[in-house]
Amino acid sequence: MDLVCLDLEGVLVPEIWIAFANKTGIESLRATTRDIPDYDVLMQQRLRILAEHNLKLDDIQDVIQTLAPMDGAKDFLDSLRASYQVIILSDTFYEFAQPLMQQLAWPTLFCHRLIVDDAGNVTGYKLRQKDPKKISVQSLHALNYRIFAAGDSYNDTTMLAEADVGFLFRAPKNVIEEFPQFRVTNDYAELRQFIDEAAVSTLK
Ligand SMILES: [Mg+2]
Repeated sequence: MDLVCLDLEGVLVPEIWIAFANKTGIESLRATTRDIPDYDVLMQQRLRILAEHNLKLDDIQDVIQTLAPMDGAKDFLDSLRASYQVIILSDTFYEFAQPLMQQLAWPTLFCHRLIVDDAGNVTGYKLRQKDPKKISVQSLHALNYRIFAAGDSYNDTTMLAEADVGFLFRAPKNVIEEFPQFRVTNDYAELRQFIDEAAVSTLK
């Protein structure tokens, strides 16, 4: 039994925080883990900025609703789901991903949760678990699936290493250089071909 695990942002949809910053014009929301390596510090800053701009969850979702998956992402995913079980493993939040998941026809998504108060303000967040992508692949292996995985960044590399075969998709140069063990592609058709080849070549 074969299962494909895909990263979300940078693979099927744009980086949500960056796209959200572009849409709203709030420059300070463009900061990423490259600028502020401590994820909790970064998230607390983001939540503070949302509060300063009086952006409630509904407002944020309205903006994210105007974002679209990458060109070709929906067709790639639809076709992949016809041949494989597919789970999206992401470090985003259900509440942010929701408008984009709708456009992707609600694929299975494992990610984190935002904490929202009764007035609709985003007051915090809850990570599902530590190293969630790697642990998810380990857990799916325990269910007797062969796993093929694709992602674009550092937070995907433990998932790719844990999978039977892992691929980098549209990854930045530094990630490609640091992880030469993973095949690289920038194209959905080629990624599909890589996955199909891996499924045949790892058949026991
Ligand atoms: Mg990504």
